[in-house]
Amino acid sequence: MDETNFRDYALSAPTYEQISEECAVISDTLTDAVSGSEAIAAVAVWDALRRRLSTWSSLVYIRFHQDTQNEGFKQAREYCDQLQPKLTNLAVAMKRQLLESPFRNALVEHFGKHVFDLWQCDIASFDPVIEDDLVAQSRLEAEYTELLAAENFAFQGEIHTLSEMAKFSEHRDREVRHEANQLRWGWFSENQDEFDKLFDRLVRLRQRMAEKLGYENFIPLAYQLMQRIDYEQSDVEKFRAEVREHVVPLTVEIRRRQANSLGIDPLMAWDEGLHDPAGNPRPQGDHDWMIERAQEMFAEIGGGMDDFFAQMCARNLMDLKSRKGKAGGGFCDLLPDFGMPFIYANFNGTKSDLETFTHEMGHAFQVFSSLHQPLIDYYWPTTEACEIHSMSLEYLTWPHMELFFGDEAERFRQLHLTQSLLFLPYGVAVDHFQHLVYAEPHCTPDDRAALWQEMERTYLPTLQWGDLAHPASGRRWQMQLHVFGSPFYYIDYTLALTCALQLWVRASEDSAAALAIYGELCRRGGEAPFNELVTSAGLTSPFEEGCLAGAVEYAKRRLGK
Ligand code: ZN
Repeated sequence: MDETNFRDYALSAPTYEQISEECAVISDTLTDAVSGSEAIAAVAVWDALRRRLSTWSSLVYIRFHQDTQNEGFKQAREYCDQLQPKLTNLAVAMKRQLLESPFRNALVEHFGKHVFDLWQCDIASFDPVIEDDLVAQSRLEAEYTELLAAENFAFQGEIHTLSEMAKFSEHRDREVRHEANQLRWGWFSENQDEFDKLFDRLVRLRQRMAEKLGYENFIPLAYQLMQRIDYEQSDVEKFRAEVREHVVPLTVEIRRRQANSLGIDPLMAWDEGLHDPAGNPRPQGDHDWMIERAQEMFAEIGGGMDDFFAQMCARNLMDLKSRKGKAGGGFCDLLPDFGMPFIYANFNGTKSDLETFTHEMGHAFQVFSSLHQPLIDYYWPTTEACEIHSMSLEYLTWPHMELFFGDEAERFRQLHLTQSLLFLPYGVAVDHFQHLVYAEPHCTPDDRAALWQEMERTYLPTLQWGDLAHPASGRRWQMQLHVFGSPFYYIDYTLALTCALQLWVRASEDSAAALAIYGELCRRGGEAPFNELVTSAGLTSPFEEGCLAGAVEYAKRRLGK
């Protein structure tokens, strides 16, 4: 077992010449193979190369996020971004060769059919003609990340990052909530032109890539990039309708009760984060204290999570504190050659710290559990399935919340559930918006803002921006990282949440059974497409009518509605 501490991880950057040479050797071996087993052995060599490259690029990406102002990390990321399309080109050529291999049957028998479907998506979404566009896209995405990470806000006698400012949205003092929102949205207003232009360039660039690859617009290309194999746009549309029908009315009721309980009428955008006049529940200690409680929690849960978490701690594979220059957001990434994942967050002292932590730990445990898979393609499933692992762990850890919240644990659970339900309409709104944006790539920024306002009317009918000019103009999505950096990666959360809520209902009946289903799903990793993973776990696909009905009914009872 590799015991290296993350702090000491160092890898030299590969060069294109070196990698293309290695690929050429593997390709020749495949061409010369005279048996299925020789072809399988060649794939294993290629997989080791891919693991090495993936370890390197993940490390570069993590280090850049940890300190976006470090010149060395920035340069490493730029080099990586430039090399990446060339490496994709080599990988796609290999995938093409494997798809046409005379030993394809033997390969399918050994590795499963699914990987060939995944590779088909990769082939359909790449061609060397878009190499430069991909580099340009990465540059624009990094520009957005840096723009957000660089800004600091002086508020209440302290300096805060944008991530940290979010905590004031649940402050008990209404004036503080309002001022904090004026401040951060004011900054967006000042930079409106820059955000509008940045996004416009991204949309046009993505449209150009789609055209070069023979698509009418970016949407079908995005579905291929997301490797959506067993569902399509019409299924997603059906799911959004399901949310409109079953969840939006419930959220209107939730907001009405929230307004009543706060004694505020009407509830304004800056009030939405506070759900209780007594204040939202918070973890009862700081970062280090939470890590200790987490150790106790995973010891109680067991099933390998205890040992796994001990390793994450011992090898320093977490960066959860917020600090200047550190990029916002939270994520989990895998370092295949170190045999461990890494989790990243920006704690701000609110209950979302705990939610982000269990969320990213869910990803981490899944990918760790999947390392037995024969191919790197199977370490992670596609992202909507990935989010089942993360969101389910948020729910499966419910019985242990006393450790973090003491006698406020029940309040935490109620709020966590409430906010999950409120998230569903927002999540599908972000997805619907992107479908509209990329269907009309030549829209003006103002047209796009109007499209978003239409989404708010449809999915978030109680939302009132008041004097917050920037979001009131239809630009709230400019704070949503995914819209810039991970197009069409958003419905995934809502699809996954639909599954996680089912697992939550199951856990309320039999927690051991729910944990067993969860563990098995984690071990399966990405060996099957989304619907197959979901149904094999005994869950209803989000694309089935009524998929949300059971969970919504149970949630209403649980919330006393
Ligand atoms: Zn996630």
